[in-house]
Amino acid sequence: MTDSVYNFGAGPAMLPPPVMAKIQEEWLDFQGMGVSLIEISHRSKEFVAILEEVQTLFRELTGLPQNYRILFVHGGARMQFSAVPLNFAGRVASRKCLYVESGNFAKLAAKEAQIFCPTEIIASSADSNYSYIPRLTPDSIDQDAAYLHITSNNTIYGTRWNQFPETGSVPLIADMTSELLSRKIDYSKFGVVYAGLQKNLGPSGMAMVIVREDLLGYAAEQTPTLLNYTQGDKDNSLTNTTNTFAIYVIKLVLEWLKEQGGIAAIEPQNEAKAALLYQTIDNSDFYQGIAQEADRSIMNVSFKLPNEELAARFLQQAEAIGLYALKGHRNTGGVRASIYNPMPLAGVEKLTNFMAEFEQKNG
Ligand SMILES: *Cc1c(COP(=O)(O)O)cnc(C)c1O
Repeated sequence: MTDSVYNFGAGPAMLPPPVMAKIQEEWLDFQGMGVSLIEISHRSKEFVAILEEVQTLFRELTGLPQNYRILFVHGGARMQFSAVPLNFAGRVASRKCLYVESGNFAKLAAKEAQIFCPTEIIASSADSNYSYIPRLTPDSIDQDAAYLHITSNNTIYGTRWNQFPETGSVPLIADMTSELLSRKIDYSKFGVVYAGLQKNLGPSGMAMVIVREDLLGYAAEQTPTLLNYTQGDKDNSLTNTTNTFAIYVIKLVLEWLKEQGGIAAIEPQNEAKAALLYQTIDNSDFYQGIAQEADRSIMNVSFKLPNEELAARFLQQAEAIGLYALKGHRNTGGVRASIYNPMPLAGVEKLTNFMAEFEQKNG
């Protein structure tokens, strides 16, 4: 990636350029140790300091309440699709787990849970290829269930929950992979939040899990040790060798975010970027947004062109001028612009200018 290329990839996604530069600067000699960060023990005092710093910074940036634990776990977001039912279904005798199917990852999460517990999909927007977030009524949430799982931002379709459901005494669990740290969240409304790192936090292959303390201790007996959140919490995420590099990158990303002014500063920037794109879509008969307006994501903006041939030409011409990785997911076709925290407004402006030009020539 050079400065003239804007990376709109959904994930692994762009990281802030200053973070990349810092990694390069420290690569061969970490803080004067004469070795690289990736060459030192995950139990060394230098790495443990990084791990603790990440937790402190995350708490500071999010205002996470004290009764929540922070874990770093293997296997990305989808490994948590298994870990969640294994760790929490045992909270109740029925072991019943509730899911909302608002997109492809939501569907996969529910499917995985079926391996481990009685699973019920209580609402779905599959009827319209996930163009909206299903609305829940309080009485649709069985108060005897172990938890309700939602996907807070649907990466493929570009929808998000703008208002989270009231679940009564049933813990709300959210996959926030494609939007963690992009907007202010009241974590006290959630029992568990998890996110794969590769969209707003760092490299792929790991996830961050935030768990309310009282939900720990219910893991099923057959839970693999490395998927057991209670064990991970006891071991401060160092049950085995963690991905030290990934956690180091998170630290740099969090420091970068703090320098930007934190979530209070980045959220309006994210909104402004998304607004510019949606405006361009709404002011045109050529581009058509996929998400219904009330449920639009500010992280992933998915839209169609009049046909897939035009979309292919759009993508090819966009890439030629440094607008990289705009191809929509195979489930939607068209175009998807992932505009995570590090995407500058200039990148979105370049994209919207190109959209206007392309429409003029081809519309
Ligand atoms: C990308 C994504 C995933 C998959 O993440 P992996 O780390 O590849 O398992 C899961 N859920 C959501 C919402 C995503 O955006």
